[in-house]
Amino acid sequence: MNLPTCTKCKSQPSVFFRGYSGERLCKDCFIKSIIERVQRSINIYEMLEHSSKIAIGVSGGKDSLTLLHVLKIIEDNTHGSEIVAITIDEGIKGYREEALKIVKKNTRLLDLEWVHISFKKLFGISMDEIAAKTTRSLGSCSYCGVLRRRALNTAAKSIGADRLATGHTLDDMAQSAILNLIRGDLSKMHSLLPGGINQDGFVRRIKPLCEVPERETALFAYLSGFEFQSMSCPYAEEAIRNDARAWLNDMEEKRPGIMFTTFRTALKMMPQLKSTNLKACEFCGEPTAGSSCRVCQMVMDGNIRV
Ligand code: SF4
Ligand code: ZN
Repeated sequence: MNLPTCTKCKSQPSVFFRGYSGERLCKDCFIKSIIERVQRSINIYEMLEHSSKIAIGVSGGKDSLTLLHVLKIIEDNTHGSEIVAITIDEGIKGYREEALKIVKKNTRLLDLEWVHISFKKLFGISMDEIAAKTTRSLGSCSYCGVLRRRALNTAAKSIGADRLATGHTLDDMAQSAILNLIRGDLSKMHSLLPGGINQDGFVRRIKPLCEVPERETALFAYLSGFEFQSMSCPYAEEAIRNDARAWLNDMEEKRPGIMFTTFRTALKMMPQLKSTNLKACEFCGEPTAGSSCRVCQMVMDGNIRV
């Protein structure tokens, strides 16, 4: 079968049809387009300065490893920032061990420093132990998300990073925008700002893949040929986010470009929304919106000990 020719270089056979732009791209033009897209997002959302120290949260999945590979290429060619990969080992048997091996291989391949830190070491308890205690009303992911956020920030601070990059894709951004709306939680919209916000006690979080759809990170990983973990976490929940994901995927199929519109509309709302002022948690001193942070609230509920 003859594949249509790439609409960019007009010489190679295309391997991908990009519904929202109408382009058909060959392997090389596709890979180049992702690197250029990330570079553009870094520039427009003012994510980096020259010679930053960037900590990248790398779980071992296709999104975070795509981020690692793309940022390495960009930084080698432009800002010259130092990159350190950070992996949080939640302590999930049969799942996290494989991810750790994969991240190790990728960081060796790219000749990057790699730091990994476990829930057990930081909080005295593993995710398997928490899952054994949690009730259906507050599932494993609710605990894991809060602890992982803290662990990533702690690890990024400990290496003196001035940015913490995460592998959130366009799909994640659009889903979060919809979820914040339907939960009526507009104060959380600010966490979608791709360039992050400077807040005392937090390493500024940036999201360089904010305009890259998830199916394109998967194709980037596949075409680049690096190994990534495809197994899902055994505690992944059938949460409301999955409904938002299914709905957005269906809409995107019917009306290509709807994820971009959702994300950009959320960004346009930002100036009208008030951001939350953070203060120090009265127990641990970490930044929080209330008087005590979510980690300390979990400790007090008796589910974890720090
Ligand atoms: Fe943690 Fe849930 Fe992600 Fe598993 S799916 S790593 S429990 S947040
Ligand atoms: Zn091409």
